Amino acid sequence: MSERLLNQTALITGGGSGIGAATARRLAAEGAKVAVVDLDGGTADAVANEIREAGGEAVSLVADVTQNAQVEAAFEETLQRFGRLDIMLANAGLFPDLVPVGECLEESWRRVLDVNLTGVFLCVKAALRPMRRQKSGVILATASMAGTIPMPAGIEYSVSKTGVIMLIRHVAQIYGPEGIRAIAICPGWVDTPFLEPLWEAFGGWTGKSALRAMAPLGRMATPEDVAASVVFLASEEASFISGTAFTIDGGASAGIPVQQGLLTRGYLRLRAGGRRLLGKSTPRPF
Ligand code: NAD
Repeated sequence: MSERLLNQTALITGGGSGIGAATARRLAAEGAKVAVVDLDGGTADAVANEIREAGGEAVSLVADVTQNAQVEAAFEETLQRFGRLDIMLANAGLFPDLVPVGECLEESWRRVLDVNLTGVFLCVKAALRPMRRQKSGVILATASMAGTIPMPAGIEYSVSKTGVIMLIRHVAQIYGPEGIRAIAICPGWVDTPFLEPLWEAFGGWTGKSALRAMAPLGRMATPEDVAASVVFLASEEASFISGTAFTIDGGASAGIPVQQGLLTRGYLRLRAGGRRLLGKSTPRPF
């Protein structure tokens, strides 16, 4: 690795798995000291241990991003440990129930928005404090291609990610003059445990081959693809990039009609035997 981020410090939420874990490893390999924050302390510990075994510096912290006191404690602990905060990736997220809005339970709607949007809001506020003191920093948040294209099922997820993009644009607009950059990353389909409910729900009909077909580049993203973009965006090489939604989707959003067609067809299959992840009831066919 190039050690592009030597002497920088980073905090990543949802750092125990998937995109967050790959990004934590990659930031550390580039020289950054990393706080791996997750609801699941076991996975966060494992990622931090892996980084330390590879010669890097990392700490694992448990926090639920929907709980402000826990978020503040994690940021405070990171600052005490590393002295400053240069990079923050608000990445923790929840997959939605695969039902259209008419069948979306209020409980599911609130839960997805709470984790995916309010969680990012709380982390952004906690990151701004040290970064404004330092007069520097990069705030990143994991939005999604689904934040720019409505999902045919699980619209609360799309709404939460559109909110993340707008929040990040606001941060870039207001705090840019203080030396702070802000970028929303918008991955397409990424091969992580996040999508397991999708494989179950689609019963193998569509699965990974269908998602691969949605990207003109012919594959799903790996978590490492996303991590590489985060390193670039956090680095000096991206010093004039701010306030944007940075797409990492293999060209999938360039082929919206194909993608929407596949997703909608997949959903039509799903509705017959659909299931909820957050609520208890089974969706009725509509
Ligand atoms: P993942 O399931 O592998 O990792 C998500 C992590 O977030 C888990 O470690 C989980 O414990 C943690 N988490 C969940 N709720 C939390 C909470 N309340 N507080 C703290 N941590 C919490 O999923 P992933 O694919 O790596 O997803 C990471 C982000 O990327 C999410 O925001 C997701 O919406 C987004 N995203 C994923 C994809 C994809 O296809 N996998 C595509 C676009 C965007």
